[in-house]
Amino acid sequence: MSAVAEHRCPCGYVADCADTAPGTSTPVDAKPSPGDLTVCIRCGRVLQFTEAMGVRPFEAMGQLAESERAAIRRVQAAIHSMRGIPS
Ligand SMILES: [Zn+2]
Repeated sequence: MSAVAEHRCPCGYVADCADTAPGTSTPVDAKPSPGDLTVCIRCGRVLQFTEAMGVRPFEAMGQLAESERAAIRRVQAAIHSMRGIPS
């Protein structure tokens, strides 16, 4: 898990760290860069890091490879299960 600048999801959750998605080739301790995606640990929304390392909602899921969408779905399913949110 890497420390990053505080960023706020539209749901209001403020995060100050990020982790690598399981099943990807990214090194475990890699720091995110502008353009990288993250998933809010509270609501499961997909967010994209901006140049200033804030975040904005990511709406272009169709542009991702199926393996990337699958990794995001696994993370969202885990978050929804943990929070009791129906997937
Ligand atoms: Zn959120």
